[in-house]
Amino acid sequence: MIVFFGTRGVSSKLGEGRFHCPRCGTETPYVRRRVRQFFHLYYIPLVPLGERVELVECGVCRTTFDPAILGGAPVAAGGTFDYEFHRGLLRAMVALLPPGAAEQEEAVGGVRDLYRAETGIDLSAQEVKAVVRQTEEDPGRVDGELSDLAQRLDGARREQILRAARAVASRTPGAGDRLASIEASLAAG
Ligand SMILES: [Zn+2]
Repeated sequence: MIVFFGTRGVSSKLGEGRFHCPRCGTETPYVRRRVRQFFHLYYIPLVPLGERVELVECGVCRTTFDPAILGGAPVAAGGTFDYEFHRGLLRAMVALLPPGAAEQEEAVGGVRDLYRAETGIDLSAQEVKAVVRQTEEDPGRVDGELSDLAQRLDGARREQILRAARAVASRTPGAGDRLASIEASLAAG
């Protein structure tokens, strides 16, 4: 299992227990952490958050969630840095790039521009390329991730992902079927 988002070396443990992991679909152990300063995307240090956030990490799949999940409540929109949302946004865009996009500066630059426009976060080209390569290795996985995510997204964030995905698809000849699949995954929530 690939860990897409992690907090290695920069977090403090607040507690642990068992919860229902939406991704595993069953009860699993979790660790609750406070994340300081940075989080990592695909093991690449990504964002100086400038704030501390708390999250809950599944001990099996290592997916991280808003601590609200422990109360059974839907993840709140806004305010809290939403790891799953940012990953989904990037993965949806990357999935719609043409084959070999990691070597195409224009395609990578386009994703960086859109990601910045939607989130205010400036990803490096290296970070985008790493995600492109991982997505190309297992393209079908994106749909499953997005349908999982859709169950926890509010309408505004779902629309953000759709908007960014459509923008990438509009520049990629033949991306129509792929886009339809991603739209269907997001609608599944
Ligand atoms: Zn899990």
